[in-house]
Order: sequence, then C-alpha cells, then structure tokens
Amino acid sequence: MKANKLKKQKLGLGVISAMLCVMSCTFTTSTFADTVDNSISTTIENSVILNTQNNLFNSIQENLLIAQAKVFEENQNNYNCVINYPVTNNTLIDNEIEAFVISLKWSFHLSNSNRDIAVTYDNFNIDYKEFQIDDNYYTVVFNESRTNNEGAKIERIYIQNYNKETGKIATVDEILENNLEQEKIISLKETIVEYLKYHLYGGEGFISQNYEAYKPYLTTENIFNHLVFDSNSIKFYANPNVVLPNEDGVVDIEISIDYILNILGFDFFMAETEEIIEEVIEDEIEEIEIDPSNPMAGVSGIFLVDVNGEKVYKQGDIIDPDKPMVALTYDDGPSKIHTNRILDALEKHNTVATFFDIGKLIDAYPEIIQRQVALGCEIGNHTYYHDNYTKLSVSAIKADIEKTNNSYMNAVGYIPTLFRPPYGSTNATVRSSTGLAEILWSIDTKDWQSRDANKILDTIYKEGNLDGQVILMHGIYESTAKATEILIPYLLEKGYQVVNVTDLLEMKYGVTPSAGQSFGYNYFN
Ligand code: ZN
Repeated sequence: MKANKLKKQKLGLGVISAMLCVMSCTFTTSTFADTVDNSISTTIENSVILNTQNNLFNSIQENLLIAQAKVFEENQNNYNCVINYPVTNNTLIDNEIEAFVISLKWSFHLSNSNRDIAVTYDNFNIDYKEFQIDDNYYTVVFNESRTNNEGAKIERIYIQNYNKETGKIATVDEILENNLEQEKIISLKETIVEYLKYHLYGGEGFISQNYEAYKPYLTTENIFNHLVFDSNSIKFYANPNVVLPNEDGVVDIEISIDYILNILGFDFFMAETEEIIEEVIEDEIEEIEIDPSNPMAGVSGIFLVDVNGEKVYKQGDIIDPDKPMVALTYDDGPSKIHTNRILDALEKHNTVATFFDIGKLIDAYPEIIQRQVALGCEIGNHTYYHDNYTKLSVSAIKADIEKTNNSYMNAVGYIPTLFRPPYGSTNATVRSSTGLAEILWSIDTKDWQSRDANKILDTIYKEGNLDGQVILMHGIYESTAKATEILIPYLLEKGYQVVNVTDLLEMKYGVTPSAGQSFGYNYFN
C-alpha cells in the first residue's frame, strides 16, 4: 500500500459553559501567573495531540455499530484462504457483508482454478478496516491480496458503505447529502480533486512522466467512489492502474480535516451539523421555563448572579472551606441532549459545575446557557470556533474572545471571567490577550477518547483524594452524561462539596481569578 499521509492534526469542536458568579473581580490581581504555571509549555504538545474530540461531520454518534472481528480460514488443496471480516449487531448489514465476502472468495476460486491462466496463487487473504462517521452509515474497506510462493502479489481495495437502517449499500453521495448542503459538496469535491492532483502528480517525489495518462481520471464525478470518511480525515483509496500505474499498488491517501478547513473555512462542516442535531433532538428536551427578562426567577437551585450579573449571594456562604471540595468542568458544549442530561443530574443533587462552552454553539442553543446559569453553574469562554489560540494573532484572539463574549451577552446578559483554551494549548501571548482568567484542570478523564462511563469513573476514582481538584470532561457525549449521573452521588457520599471553579479558587486557595492569571495543571493538585 502506498501511504501518503499528511500530518494529521486533530480538531475539536468544543464548547464550554460555565456559570460565573463573579462579574467584577477587583480583588487580587497579582504576580500570580509568574508562580503558577511552568508546566504549561511542556504539556501542551500532548494535549494538542490527545484532544481529538470531534469527527468530520460532527455527528451525534449515538447509534454506532458494535462489530466483532471474525476469521474464516480454509485450506484447499491448491491454496490457503484467510478472510477477516466484521460481524455487527445489525443482521441486515451482516448479510450484505457475508454475501460480499463470499462473492470475493468465489471469484478468486474460479479464476485460480482456471487452467488457462498463467499465474495461480497460493494464498488468498482479506483484511478490513471499518469506519463510522455518523449515526447512519458504517463503512468497511476490504483489502484483498493474492500472493504466490514465487513472490507474485495482487492487491485490491473494496469500499462498502452500509446504511444502518436499510442494511443496504450506500453511495458516498448519499452520505454527503445526508451531511452537507449541495454547494458545499461541490466545493468539497473540488478541493479533494485539487489535493489529489497535486499529491499524486505535482510533487512530493512523484515525477509525472508516466502519469499523464492517469491524470484525466481525477474528476469530481470519479473520485467519489474512492472516498472514505474517517473521524478526522477523508481517505482516498484507489486500486492499481486507476490513478497510478500498476507497480505503485493500491493508493491510500489521507486528507486531514485541517487541510480541508484551511481551504474551505473553519465552520465548513458545522452549520449543517447543528441543523441535524436540532432535528434529532428537538422534541427530546424538556421545556425549561425561563423568563428572559429575569432568568433567575422561579427556578430552584443556587443562584449566584442576578440578571445584571450582580451577585445575589455568594455560593461561598454555603461552602465550608474546611471540608473537601471538587470542581467538575464540562467543555465543548452545549449539546442539547447531553448537556441537558448533565444539568438534570446537577439539579437533582443540588450541585453545580463549570461549563466551558463554544460561542458557535452558544448562539445555537442559548437556552441551555440560560439553564446553566439558572442552576447556579459557572460559565467560561472556550472560544467561538474552538481554535488553537497559540496559532492565532493577538488581534484574532481578541476578536474571537469578543465574539464569544457577545454570544454570552445575548444568551444570559453577562460575560464570564474564566477562559479555557481549546486543547489546553496556551502561551504567554494567549494569557495576556483574552482579558480572562485561564483555567486548565488537574484530572483529565479522557472521556472524549474512551466514550465509556466506567472508564471515566475509574480515572477519577483512582486519583484518590480529589480535594481541591478540577476534573476535565466534555459535555457532548452520552458516556460523560452517564458517568456524571453516577459521579455526583458518589462525590457527595464521600463528603465532597461539588463546586464551581471560581468558588473552588476562592474557598480552597483563597484567590479570586482575574484577567491574565493562569491556573494550570499543577495548580489544583
Ligand atoms: Zn475543547
């Protein structure tokens, strides 16, 4: 296989919501940043690499197939056959897969038994990779290889997309039409063709002499049979002699989502997504009655600010500074289903959490931010588009912060004082440009990675003493919401007060966060 991999960079779609109890922080501004965080610069790299939380179409991903690998082995007198294939919990799809694999084996058997052919093969193998880009489709890429003991080898690739509902084969166009508007599909196709032309024929070690014959194949109509959508990239597979000569084998090129977004704009995959989410979730949320002129009225919970952002009373009044306390934080929301489920759990136990939400999604779901605030939760800025601020200019950072602050103003009438950088990626320039206090975390549950409530809980449990710690989670996963429902009663049972970040800082550490300060990984331990 020819693997031409671009540097793969992860992209997160995140939001944070936090409810902030303190509007005006005129308390301690100090040389804090100097003493707090030397660890940031060394840990960023990791954080950037690990924080892969979104996928190409930013879908809800609640309906993923569970597949198990099966192996079929057969020793015929003239060849060995090893076929790996997935068995899912969807019988319709399994039937399709089985029929397909059998057809591959049968066609091999026929051709290999044909006495007229010059080359016969001793081994027939099928391997596969699977992909689930959204709730509706499941993709399997089968890789067939025929080898013989004289060293001859033929490889072929077969891409099969299955519609989870019908179990039938789906086209790439169908998948795209389900996720993107028509004009976006056209731009995407054009971008991919340009990329492939350059990558296959334009440079990077490929000399074009023999390739002119192949070049015309790359058109927006043709390429689509060759594409596979992975979580952070689009993969292009082609069999030998399609876009490159036989001797180059199977072509396998990965186009990162970053590349596409650089060309087509950061929010290329976003707008449509929100519409989809909207459709799916519309009738699932309970209506929350909030009087826009007074979001605090008539809602039970701990109220920390009034409509003007003024403190009604300080949560510290009811927090015992001598008892253990822990802050839960949820990034990358709001998500209609999952953030509301987390809020349900918080409300049920009369506890709070800090939500670092994304401006784009705050604009889409202001009512969720209102509910966070109404329940006494803290809100914090997590940027408008979930950009990596270390890659932006100071003026771009300021504009993005402003845009996000506007989203908060529109939603709840005040702006947060806290900021959490996407990917935990920050530096001195970022810290001095946001006009907010930077909050990282001390326990990373890696919930975006495991998507497993038990693993999230284990990560927290094995920390032992949680007093004074800030736990990082993401409010956009079902598994995280599920973990939260178990975690909160567990913490209360263990005697922890579950508090907002600002309250934790004030009550536990005696500091009120203010602009330019940074509370990094080592601060809360
Ligand atoms: Zn994030």
